[in-house]
Amino acid sequence: MTSPATGATGAVDMPDYAPVPQSARGATLNEHGYHVGQVERNLYWVTDNVYQSAFLTTDDGVVLFDAPPNIGHNIRRAVDEITAANGVTNRVTHMVYSHHHADHLGAASLFGGDVVRIGHEETRRLLLRDNDPARPAPEVTFTDSYTLEVGGERVELAWRGPNHSADNIYIHFPGHDTLMFIDVVNAGWVPIYNLNLSDDVIGYMGAPDIALSYPWRHFICGHLGRLATREDVAVHQQYIADIVASSREALASVNGAPIFQHYGENVWAAVRTHLDAITERAAAPIIAKYTGVLGGADIDVFTTTTTFAIMQSLRLDSGPSGPVHP
Ligand SMILES: [Zn+2]
Repeated sequence: MTSPATGATGAVDMPDYAPVPQSARGATLNEHGYHVGQVERNLYWVTDNVYQSAFLTTDDGVVLFDAPPNIGHNIRRAVDEITAANGVTNRVTHMVYSHHHADHLGAASLFGGDVVRIGHEETRRLLLRDNDPARPAPEVTFTDSYTLEVGGERVELAWRGPNHSADNIYIHFPGHDTLMFIDVVNAGWVPIYNLNLSDDVIGYMGAPDIALSYPWRHFICGHLGRLATREDVAVHQQYIADIVASSREALASVNGAPIFQHYGENVWAAVRTHLDAITERAAAPIIAKYTGVLGGADIDVFTTTTTFAIMQSLRLDSGPSGPVHP
């Protein structure tokens, strides 16, 4: 059964999906539409059950990590709520950018001009390129790693190669047993389209191992309504590994020759039919296996497009792209 919604652009199809698994359910939001929780000691996270932000309260000021516009002014409300309760300053003195994407930084300009903004050098380059007044470029940048010390607390920032985006960094809180790493693993949910809209498939697939190489107990993943655990990262890795194995099987099994013969001079029709057949064959067992395990697994376009991207990476990055003509 589907429920039509009518708006200015006409009817939108709204199909029904499987119930969200218990492990994918979010936080209880307050009357403003946010939840703020203590991660460990003076490190807090904020969510609207779609996006996540974090902040560290210290005697010298608040350090903010990302400012998703979805949470927007609720970031300030959450900071004020926690700092008032703890009797420390609510002045945001530093902002750390995880990566340049507007959906995680679009509220960055709400925090005024006297904030020290810190990010990777590529984040600065991309933000200067994109020229969005909502996302002031960071003045403090680094190439490989950066140690931020504020109010007796230490945060370790590191760039370990492109993954979701060219500039996405690891944010480690050694004194809080926590890693913040955005847009790769979604706690309890599948990635959305094309491996969470990622630039670099090989980098994306390798990133969870790097994340697990850090010591931590709490993981701030940037999306949805709860913190992640090491087990969540392992389930994500298994989901991706299953797609890789299934894609290899499908690449080896689907015979393109009769498809190309059928379509003759319409080469693109043959390419589409061939690649779609491989993708459908590879994705079907993954969708079946993870429905009820990960939220969104039954929204088949997410797993199908992620499978397509991985299958293409197996052909184009790993190789071979196909047999060599005799
Ligand atoms: Zn992103």
